[in-house]
Amino acid sequence: MLNKRLKEAFLKIIMSVELKKNPKIFHPFLIAFFPIVAIYSVNIGLIKLEEFILPTLLIVGSATLLFLCLKYILKNTKKAALIVSLAFIVFFSFGHTYNVLDQVDVGNIDLGSNKILLPVFIILFGLGSFLIIKTKRTLDNATSIVNTVSIVFISVILVMVGIETFACNECLIERNTSWYFDFFSNEKIDFSSYFEDHSFSISENDSLPNVYFIILDGYPRNDVLKEYVNFDNSEFTNALEQKGFHIAENSYANYSFSGVSIVSTMNMDYINFLADDLGEDSIDYNPIVGKDYGLYPDNQVIKNFKSMGYKTVKLGTATIYLYELPLVDLSPCYKSIHLMDNRLLDAVGNTSMIGYFIERWAEEQQRQIILCDFEELPKISDYFEEPVFVWSHIMLPHYPLIFGPNGEPVTPGKPLIAMNHPEFTDSSWDIKTQFMYQVQFANKKSLEFIDRIIEKEKNPIIIIQSDHGSAFGVNIEDPTNDNVFQKLSNLSAIYFPDEKHRKMLTDDRTNVNTFRTVFNAYYGSNYEILEDRAYWGLSVKKPFWFEDVTSLILQEGT
Ligand SMILES: [Zn+2]
Repeated sequence: MLNKRLKEAFLKIIMSVELKKNPKIFHPFLIAFFPIVAIYSVNIGLIKLEEFILPTLLIVGSATLLFLCLKYILKNTKKAALIVSLAFIVFFSFGHTYNVLDQVDVGNIDLGSNKILLPVFIILFGLGSFLIIKTKRTLDNATSIVNTVSIVFISVILVMVGIETFACNECLIERNTSWYFDFFSNEKIDFSSYFEDHSFSISENDSLPNVYFIILDGYPRNDVLKEYVNFDNSEFTNALEQKGFHIAENSYANYSFSGVSIVSTMNMDYINFLADDLGEDSIDYNPIVGKDYGLYPDNQVIKNFKSMGYKTVKLGTATIYLYELPLVDLSPCYKSIHLMDNRLLDAVGNTSMIGYFIERWAEEQQRQIILCDFEELPKISDYFEEPVFVWSHIMLPHYPLIFGPNGEPVTPGKPLIAMNHPEFTDSSWDIKTQFMYQVQFANKKSLEFIDRIIEKEKNPIIIIQSDHGSAFGVNIEDPTNDNVFQKLSNLSAIYFPDEKHRKMLTDDRTNVNTFRTVFNAYYGSNYEILEDRAYWGLSVKKPFWFEDVTSLILQEGT
């Protein structure tokens, strides 16, 4: 119904275009504003409202500047305005055209390639501008029409965004968001009742160990690497064992994707209560990432360490803003992988003609973060008098695939955040080899770090663990038993400095008990070791929808 009403309004305006003399010119500014609203409209919830300001100033500002320059050069306001509008249409429709054509091959030519599309767009723009400059017409009609069309487009999309934001009973825009924030709810949820009380007994004289928790994102277990990547990883795990690590033979993640898996590990508990509280259809990520109370920033593990006088350090922060982690004392490698630290500007830029370069820039940021993490890891304890808990979430071997085995930069040539992009499966880009390279690079850097720390510190605790396994050919919506096995089998390697406590580590373990074991072993707590369970999830589509796959997983283990 709403769609119909919108269409009628649209037609009414089109019919009433007045072709008058010397119309006022405003279309370049509306057209420049359009991509910002359009990108926002498909990311409502992902992008915060205040992020509108910077891209609007920048993009509409540059349209104004370009318009003034051209007006001065051409001495013709209407021509200048039309060229600006054409330039912005060409510039910002590039990425969309690219994405559509990317699926199309004519003969052997891939139309969706920068080499073909870029010249075509430049020629189109050049030709259009040439015609506008050369024409002898007054361009009154053209200006009126472009004015009207720009009003119609902006109005329609603003109405849609308005309806979507304020009353989504009849949603018009299909969401493709990942992180959803409820702007109008400032309600902080108190999760404390879900977590049991704890007490620690540490004597004043004990020198507390530094604790290093290194999440290697998406790092599969050895048997999975062998089966799906044809890579024998035993050299690495043997080296770890020689240094005193215990590697769980049958380790599993409790949840199949990062956000929820890490939150569960850091809170030492299953978090299925979120599904009961919020409904399993909820896509509100505030309970996870909400500053001060979300289960990610305000997690039990950090709070426990803080209560014992530890300093806490977060490494590998790229997707979460630093100010969103109030319990963290230091985050030395923080860098944004978003253009000017603005997600809306980044998304608009990515679909523009310079999208290719923005992607390469973001990859380089990502590389710098990872290299910085490994460089800082052995130095962290020097920054504080107090013992430290280091929480390092490293995007290795997880996509993007940007490193060779020795850290040489690799260009993926594919969209940066494209875990499940269909193209990965059938392109010449050999994703499994590249993935293996990133595993090798992660191994190399991890061993370097471990050697330095064990040499430097008397009694460190080191945990190298992945939040889930790999996802080669995995159907998230409808997984086979093998899919579940592959995605949930993770690496879990724990280093306890003394033999006595190493005996507490077993071959059958899941991430939920990692820190329960650590606190019981070294801090005199009495945490119950939870029963191992595993859940399949749909990731960003419905973060709190969980399907119990424990029986599948445990069959494998026993
Ligand atoms: Zn992950």
